Amino acid sequence: MDNTNRSRTRTLRRTTILLVVAAAGILNLRFTLTARAQETASSGGAKTVWSITAKDIGERLDILASDSLEGRRTGEPGASKAARYIASEFHRLQLSPIDSAHVFMQPFDFSEHAMDTTKHGFTHGMNIVGYIRGEDPQLADQTVIIGAHYDHLGMGGPFALDKVHAIHYGADDNASGTSGLLEIAEHLSKERYTLKRSVLFIAFSGEEEGLFGSAYFTEHPLVPLKNVQAMVNMDMIGRMNDSNTLIVQGMGTSPSWKDLITSLPESKPLHLKYFQTGTGPSDHAKFYAKDVPVLFLFTGFHDDYHKATDTRDKINVVGEAKVAQFAESVVLNLANRPDKIAFTRPAGDTEQKAASFGVYVGGVPDYGYDGDGLRIDEIRDNSPAKAAGLQKGDIVIKFDEMAIKNIYDYTNALAKHHPGDKVIMKVMRAGVAVDVPVVLGKRSSEH
Ligand SMILES: [Zn+2]
Repeated sequence: MDNTNRSRTRTLRRTTILLVVAAAGILNLRFTLTARAQETASSGGAKTVWSITAKDIGERLDILASDSLEGRRTGEPGASKAARYIASEFHRLQLSPIDSAHVFMQPFDFSEHAMDTTKHGFTHGMNIVGYIRGEDPQLADQTVIIGAHYDHLGMGGPFALDKVHAIHYGADDNASGTSGLLEIAEHLSKERYTLKRSVLFIAFSGEEEGLFGSAYFTEHPLVPLKNVQAMVNMDMIGRMNDSNTLIVQGMGTSPSWKDLITSLPESKPLHLKYFQTGTGPSDHAKFYAKDVPVLFLFTGFHDDYHKATDTRDKINVVGEAKVAQFAESVVLNLANRPDKIAFTRPAGDTEQKAASFGVYVGGVPDYGYDGDGLRIDEIRDNSPAKAAGLQKGDIVIKFDEMAIKNIYDYTNALAKHHPGDKVIMKVMRAGVAVDVPVVLGKRSSEH
């Protein structure tokens, strides 16, 4: 889970990095139908009798929260190992890649400088995305998304609460959700012929630094977001208490949630605590901001949160298996019910809760540009940049009286202003300096 105050740079960028090529090499992209999948097919789609077990969850946690993965900090070798593990599991389970490069990896870059001034340049993040195409020709273009972030804090750093330089294992945050995601993928892959809608599994990274993976995905979705039935997010599901309490947020994001959940046998062993909000400090908030119904599953905060002591031995694997079974039953209902559930925004649930302040312009920086100034790569629709007439390719060289040499100058300039301020941006456009008055907007999540 992410505890940043979100005073960060917007750093979405389409990019292709070498890891895609590496991934394509690692993963054999030819899929064969195994005997096991044929078995499922010939069983006529009958529901399998086995369910997700504590033992299987535990085995995945042993890997994800191991020393070898070094706390899975985005951009570092431990996170790459985790990414390869998840992608290889998606491959083994015969999930399909969905992007045009036919790999399970969705790379993205972001800057951590706004949160950690010792960090320069860009951090490479990697979402791992696997797909099961639905069987019903009428419904297969609709997709249920289930996600969990796999990154954590590495050796500590600005988001750690203990300031200890040691492996921050993130067993609960969020090896727990990731192991649940993989177990659900494994189970549903064997029931694939029973699925009417498609299911997309996403392991996000860049979450701890500020939801960068889910921000990137929702800006570059691999399926049309308007066809997404709902997004279910699991973040910190490993510390269920003796009362079997599970916190369920997002209830207000669809009128269907309450009936759906209470109809499920898998909800019966759980003591569910409902919250209406669709915002919150985890990846579902980015989907909610795009009008997708969301459900956020969470077993609660604890003293080891964002500390090196969030370790494997403290995970309640029996409880986590119950959460995963419940999450899976939600996904199955979403995949197979006749209707597409409606989106609602609960009263008073503004996106500003998720991103409480910040100035918004809506010109996406070109991070590949290394000349003087800040080159704008893209202008967002309905943004202050658009309203002001800024154009793709403009190079910002001055922000009022402040000279802009690079993205950090630009970020600093934004930080010194407030929503509603009117500023003059001096830009170079086709070699000519142009003064553009811009009324700064307010950042409300990622628009
Ligand atoms: Zn966290």
